[in-house]
Amino acid sequence: MASRVCLVHYHEIGLKGKNRAHFERILMDNLKAALAAFSVATCTRISGHILVTFSKKGEAEAAYDTIRRVPGVARVSLALHCNRDPEEYCAAAVQTLHEFGPFETFKVEARRSNTDYELHTMDLNRQVGEVLCHAFPEKKVKMKDPDARVHVLVVQGSVYVYAKSDRGVGGLPQGSAGKVVTLLSSGIDSPVATWMIARRGAVPVPVHFSGRPQTADTSEYLVQDIIRALAPAVQVGRLYVVPFGDCQREISMACPNDLRVIMYRRVMYAVSERIAQLEGARAIVTGESLGQVASQTLENIAAVNEVVDTPVLRPLIGSDKQEIIERAESIGTYDISCETAPDCCTLFMPRRPETHAKMDEVHAAWEMFDHEAMIEHLVRNVEWIDFGGPTYHRPRPLHDRHDRLEAKYRPAHAE
Ligand code: ATP
Ligand code: MG
Repeated sequence: MASRVCLVHYHEIGLKGKNRAHFERILMDNLKAALAAFSVATCTRISGHILVTFSKKGEAEAAYDTIRRVPGVARVSLALHCNRDPEEYCAAAVQTLHEFGPFETFKVEARRSNTDYELHTMDLNRQVGEVLCHAFPEKKVKMKDPDARVHVLVVQGSVYVYAKSDRGVGGLPQGSAGKVVTLLSSGIDSPVATWMIARRGAVPVPVHFSGRPQTADTSEYLVQDIIRALAPAVQVGRLYVVPFGDCQREISMACPNDLRVIMYRRVMYAVSERIAQLEGARAIVTGESLGQVASQTLENIAAVNEVVDTPVLRPLIGSDKQEIIERAESIGTYDISCETAPDCCTLFMPRRPETHAKMDEVHAAWEMFDHEAMIEHLVRNVEWIDFGGPTYHRPRPLHDRHDRLEAKYRPAHAE
């Protein structure tokens, strides 16, 4: 009796030459972690695919959609695993086509990865095709653009038969591109930016600036909900939380009203860069989109960016709000982001923020408070929450300049 399995297809990692085995290993580890709630029996590589088998009935069907969401998965197919027995795999072909849903036309696409099987691809197409024509006399075979394709894949001693197959999110397996620090608010954009950079293989280490103690800590819980919504396909290992409220108050009292937001952001960037150094992260990621709000004009981006040497990546810079909203819905963060919570963005906001900052005024405002001491204070008082997961590795044990810094770190309110 044929059993159900998921066949995972990947594109880009296949292109990476000698890195390929390494990338495949990461993808398999991520799949296993994403499927922790299922009874995965094996997760192995077979002939350019990853084969996931389950020990409980019905689990391949249930895990299918989770697999589609894992970065690096270009496509997933729900297959019947058969022996090299024509009766068995032809019956499986009939079954998969029955289960496919409405169709009028179909074709068989056979492939052999071993040439030791006596039937050639054309023979296999014909053999299975005849059985299907007999089973579905009212349906037509169509070579170009059929409604349904029945794939028959001969690999080693097995034959995998499938018609149900859907695209995955694509990209690269998380962990293949190194760490980045992402500035994560509970808004709509930064969760999408975090997801996008993870889909390109990066390990996102989010930093959230809370308005605490000047505001409640609601935004911190929303950010945790966002991290849970991204899982299990995208896993965040650690969230840093920076209570920023008192410092914002200090800035708001010291600096001209219209430049406050730029000052807040310069401090946020500088603190994030320090965390990036501690984590060994190579870039800072934000959810900024050009011109979307006052702080995201080219002048203001430049006025903020200059405080850091680390590259700042903005995956959404050219996206429209509607596109970002659609992505937020598809990754499951939109509803959480629509819940309002005061965070540092809503705190001490000027009525008319500067939209085209002049550098000399920015520099003058920057000297109106002890920014060095403030950054140092915020870095020392940063809190964190650990979520686990296979791709995140905690910073190495303390050495040289991070010694003092890490010694002062303390875990955030344990869950
Ligand atoms: P978002 O929807 O991501 O909050 P936004 O459109 O509200 O973005 P801003 O509030 O100007 O725009 O924030 C721009 C970017 O700055 C955000 O995308 C995020 O990367 C970062 N950011 C803003 N607020 C915070 C915060 N409280 N903690 C961490 N990062 C933040
Ligand atoms: Mg925001």
